Amino acid sequence: MIENSTSPMGLTTTEAILRQQQFGKNELAPQKKESFFHKLLHIIAEPMFLLLLVAAAIYFILGEPRDGAIMLIFVIGIISIDVIQEWKTDKTLNALKDLSAPHVKVIRDGQEITIASVDLVPGDLMMIYEGVKIPADGTVIRCSDCCVDESSLTGEAEGVWKVSTENALPASDHWRKDYCYAGTLVTQGTALVQVDKIGPATEYGKIGIHVAQAPDEPTPLQKQTGSLVKLCAGIAAVLCALVGVITYINIPDHALGDRLIESILSGITLAMAMIPEEFPVILTVFLSMGAWRLAKKQSLVRKLPSVETLGAVSVLCVDKTGTITMNQMTVQDTWAPDGNVATLCEIMGLGCETEAYDPMEKAMLSHCEKAGFSREHLFGGELITEYAFTNELKMMGHVWFHDDEIIIAAKGSPERILTISDLSATERTRVDDKIQSMSEQGLRVIAVGLMKPKTEADIPQTIEACQLTLCGLVGLADPPRETVKADIAVCNQAGIRVVMITGDNGITAASIAKKIGMPHSDHIITGDMLSEMSDEELREKVKDVSIFSRVIPEHKMRIVKAFKENGEIVAMTGDGVNDAPALKYADIGIAMGKRGSEVSREAADLILMDDNFSTIVDTVQDGRRIFDNIRKAVGYVFTIHIPIAFAALLAPLMGIAPASLLLLPLHLVLLELIIDPTCSIVLERQPAETDIMDRPPRNPKEKLLNAKILLKSVTQGLVLFAASFGTYLYMLGQHPDNPELARTMGFAVIMLANLFLVQVNSSDHDFAYQSIKRLAKDQVMWAVSLGTLAGLLIILYTPLNIFLKFAPLSVSQFLIVFAIAGISVLWYELVKLIKKLNKSGKVSI
Ligand code: ADP
Ligand code: MG
Repeated sequence: MIENSTSPMGLTTTEAILRQQQFGKNELAPQKKESFFHKLLHIIAEPMFLLLLVAAAIYFILGEPRDGAIMLIFVIGIISIDVIQEWKTDKTLNALKDLSAPHVKVIRDGQEITIASVDLVPGDLMMIYEGVKIPADGTVIRCSDCCVDESSLTGEAEGVWKVSTENALPASDHWRKDYCYAGTLVTQGTALVQVDKIGPATEYGKIGIHVAQAPDEPTPLQKQTGSLVKLCAGIAAVLCALVGVITYINIPDHALGDRLIESILSGITLAMAMIPEEFPVILTVFLSMGAWRLAKKQSLVRKLPSVETLGAVSVLCVDKTGTITMNQMTVQDTWAPDGNVATLCEIMGLGCETEAYDPMEKAMLSHCEKAGFSREHLFGGELITEYAFTNELKMMGHVWFHDDEIIIAAKGSPERILTISDLSATERTRVDDKIQSMSEQGLRVIAVGLMKPKTEADIPQTIEACQLTLCGLVGLADPPRETVKADIAVCNQAGIRVVMITGDNGITAASIAKKIGMPHSDHIITGDMLSEMSDEELREKVKDVSIFSRVIPEHKMRIVKAFKENGEIVAMTGDGVNDAPALKYADIGIAMGKRGSEVSREAADLILMDDNFSTIVDTVQDGRRIFDNIRKAVGYVFTIHIPIAFAALLAPLMGIAPASLLLLPLHLVLLELIIDPTCSIVLERQPAETDIMDRPPRNPKEKLLNAKILLKSVTQGLVLFAASFGTYLYMLGQHPDNPELARTMGFAVIMLANLFLVQVNSSDHDFAYQSIKRLAKDQVMWAVSLGTLAGLLIILYTPLNIFLKFAPLSVSQFLIVFAIAGISVLWYELVKLIKKLNKSGKVSI
């Protein structure tokens, strides 16, 4: 318990810091951080490193400490790269986590500020409102219409209406009405709460529902590459034994010890060459960097696997109001059956919340202002009671004691208001016609009704029991966002269906849908139709209906389900408390950063910071780009491993003397040092292909490495192998006494080819020079490419070459190597050219 009751100014910043030192952070279990040492251990335990260490150890045993030492230096180099990479991804992911972590509004230093919920301390004054999941236990200081769902704690489904401590009766049971509990959910109203207990001290913490943070599961792609790596490692193990044995047989002239050691070394070389240990790294780097880039574009990814799924989205279910439209309403049309528009306006104003936050009510009140009804006039009386708006009723009412009479001012969807209004049949037709014509213009139509009970006793209990006189209709416009039309066109082109979900009536929705060019905008499913449909019927219907009107949040779940059962990958937006289940169930749940509730954000995979439809489309496009780049990187790694692995396999099989091999373990490590950074940096930065939104969504079941990519990679790899190994063999034949020269030529071919390869494979359609042009301003790309070149020059032309068993090349030799490397990779540009010509129909093959 904290002794002092804080002033209405809240805590001061210094007090808050002191209290945090005293009470700790507001979290159930402190975040575990992996120690640096642990991380290092993790990296070293990778098979690749174990192989390296074994190789280094063998050199030492062999009495070649120089080779052993160089190996170790390289190992340190690779470990550093890995550690830096991991540190960077960790940092990125943590920053993302912090951005999407729950926040809470508090009063500190007399000011309203938003802080992370973990930073709450006892004594803080926190402000809670609809949709907030209460982050700590505390006493209710002030409250208005505050209802809390405490079922997570008490199991009681019924909401609890909170009261302030001042007005509280002595507590009759354990759960107090003037107290809010961590882990429960505000379903209505607002309250000011003074935090009393945080973290494990809260009731929630005490029960020990330690909803242990779900461990970060590997993403589907990570699983896929995981098994790919395992497969390669398995094959490597078999071949490693084979090569070892053959090397042993090939060198009968060596002493037994040497024979053994040489065989082990050549086996290890092969194993290192074959294991594509870059795959997992590529994935984490690409996914986390992708998420980071998205965050900069107003789209916060909460779960890493969503980045993969995004690219496969085939159906986008979006709320109309606020996402497709601007949520800036204006009253466009008013109509009273008796022509008395003034009364209509006055009653409409009386029917609004006194502190309106809904854009529609704001628009109504400003219209009243223009019509001469000031807020002072409207809200000067006494509010006797109110009928709250619910999604099911779609109407609401206020009962005022206004100008000496009791007035019930009700407003809501015409369907509902008309059922409780008394209208003659002819009047009814007139009204219906007017509703129809207003809706067809895309206006949201609201009916306004009035009732004047004689005494307070005559006030009906519920709004449905009222008998209203219809004052008239109000038509409100909420224009679509400017970019929506273009975005819908992009989605159509990209094979992504846009589905509009709204609480408005169907005609209004259809009219807006037409304005923004949505296909299938003639058919509509209303909430009532949906309620009567069976799941099978709905599944059939959703195949060609894209507008759902008059829905309640509970329907969203069924809509997502129907689409998912049809095999679609569904993204769904939601902002309300009741949207959370549908958001969880959708493949990609999208919450609104601005107007969304905390609960919906917690359930979502993605938080849209600007609530804008365009951002969703951009995000999907980025998802496709990231997936594309992962594919390119994986294909590239595959390709570049082929010449290395084949060289490590074939040379010993051909009986080449161990000291003359193209690749010794040393050189493999050197290649590792280059390959990994080149691709994860250059390919990760590749912008989207120009046709990225012209193709249909990717089939989610499709493997990362499909037949097409495999064919391309293997062909490219084999050509590269022929070029590098051929050069090496030829030179070895010419200068049998100078294996260093042969090795250097072969190695330089691989290294230079690697540079070209990254550029060639950075796009499937565009030529390498175009890709380079696109990244021409990117300093990082240049740094990496020129760095590789500089590295090559250093290892060839400085004394380092002795340690690395290289020989300096003459200028003509270097140029030859350069040409061979170029040709061995750039031939693929011709394939692109032929494909392009083929497509434009100039040549047919
Ligand atoms: P959307 O899903 O498009 O945001 P809502 O669920 O907010 O739609 O509203 C659905 C319908 O409920 C509206 O078309 C309107 O008829 C009615 N409605 C919404 N808010 C109010 C309100 N404050 N007063 C009266 N009626 C309302
Ligand atoms: Mg709404």
